[in-house]
Amino acid sequence: MKTGSDGAPRYPTRDELRHDEAELAAAILEGAAHRPQQSIGTYYEGLHASCALGAAYEGMYRIPAQAEGVQPRELWRLFDCLENTLRRCPEGCRKRISLAAMILHLNDDHQWTRERIAAWVAPEPPPAPAS
Ligand SMILES: [Zn+2]
Repeated sequence: MKTGSDGAPRYPTRDELRHDEAELAAAILEGAAHRPQQSIGTYYEGLHASCALGAAYEGMYRIPAQAEGVQPRELWRLFDCLENTLRRCPEGCRKRISLAAMILHLNDDHQWTRERIAAWVAPEPPPAPAS
């Protein structure tokens, strides 16, 4: 949670969330490069598989090769967007849940690749109109 100039907790601004989302997408791709396989239903499986959130965590932190049971808790502190953004399921199943829960939903239920999830988390900004 961010704090304002008076030290009170405040919600992040839209720009801060967008910045967060771009960093999160980059972390997913970075982490996915460490483990070539995707795990479903667990953050990490064996030595070579991670889910999208597991990959994001590994994109930010060094974790042991044998990572089964590792919980990516610090991610929530790093990325306000995980809890502070509600996303609608792009597959049209009418879910509207936090970004973190949606990433797990896309990973586990729709079995999107981590790369596809990263691209969805932070879509490219539309090209600036030619002047
Ligand atoms: Zn869905």
